[in-house]
Amino acid sequence: MEFINQMEPVFDEKEEAAVKEYIGRRAWLTEYKETRRFEDSIAAYTGARHCSVVANGTVSLMAALLACGIRPGDEVICPDYTMVASPNAIECIGARAVFADVERSTLCLDFDCMKAAVTKRTKAVMLVSLGGRYPKRLAEIVAYCREHGLWLIEDAAQSLGSFHNGRHVGTYGDIASFSFSSPKIISCGQGGALITDNTALYEKLLQVRDFGREKAGADHYMTLGFNCKFTDLQAVVGIEQMKKLPGRVARKKEMGRLYARLLAGIDGVELIETDFDETPPWFFEIICQRREALAAYLREKGVGTRPSYPPLHLEPAYGYTSQHYPVTEAVADNILWLPSTITLTDAQIAYICGCIRAFYAN
Ligand SMILES: *Cc1c(COP(=O)(O)O)cnc(C)c1O
Repeated sequence: MEFINQMEPVFDEKEEAAVKEYIGRRAWLTEYKETRRFEDSIAAYTGARHCSVVANGTVSLMAALLACGIRPGDEVICPDYTMVASPNAIECIGARAVFADVERSTLCLDFDCMKAAVTKRTKAVMLVSLGGRYPKRLAEIVAYCREHGLWLIEDAAQSLGSFHNGRHVGTYGDIASFSFSSPKIISCGQGGALITDNTALYEKLLQVRDFGREKAGADHYMTLGFNCKFTDLQAVVGIEQMKKLPGRVARKKEMGRLYARLLAGIDGVELIETDFDETPPWFFEIICQRREALAAYLREKGVGTRPSYPPLHLEPAYGYTSQHYPVTEAVADNILWLPSTITLTDAQIAYICGCIRAFYAN
């Protein structure tokens, strides 16, 4: 039996043909018309007014922060439990990432903890829709940010294809960021995208991603910026991946339902409640007892897994706070990601769940 990787990107003859055809044109590889087409397809899918594609899902967050006018010394609230790129983007532009704990039920930003973290230096909240989920108290977070003049920046890197009350995740905040790195639902190897309905913000973003230039080729510098640009070579891959997205979303939801059914009732395994009608699970995660032993057991059985993120405030890079984040501290070290590649078969999922059941029966 072949080893089941926790996650692999999937490309086929469609991407191969697109790349060959593109190279055959002797074009310049850098971003141009294909990148604009890729942006249009993301805007159409998410229902956002504007989309700008950039180099990856970390610089996209940095560009979003700069476009919002976040400056050194400003504070931005972000969850303690997230991929490290969320706070890194804040700190890398000189602002301060202020952690707040997450809800136990969704592992997303907790509204009360977010409010408690607000100071007079707070300029923005970075909301992370982990695994495509929103926090239970989303509406209160959105209303609070609006009332208090805080930018709501969504790190929706794991949420392409996820909806909430019929609206795409990422359209509730002022601006949202996606990623096309290898483990995401679609990939271009690397890549990121920003969506927004705010035209002024979008125009500022176009300058930020192009050295702060007034417009392409015009050397008049309106704002501080850097080079976040994409390539058309990746865009032709992205366009093919976008065509596959609806099918992948449907399959991910099926996979999530099957995992949830086959893992129900195992003593030692807890699932995160997910609405599979709207949310394709990105990585299928479990909160489990004896995580390292389970991972080692599954590896022996030919099943790859990945331990999830540690509490960020306890990492060396962020070890400046002695504050406690009890929910993150209690669950982060027990979260394990199960195989989530889009080509995983029902039989493989049944096998994986059978192994997990056998492990906890001992
Ligand atoms: C993947 C991811 C990122 C980073 O995206 P890159 O394209 O790898 O830079 C940021 N935030 C979250 C939540 C992610 O999952």
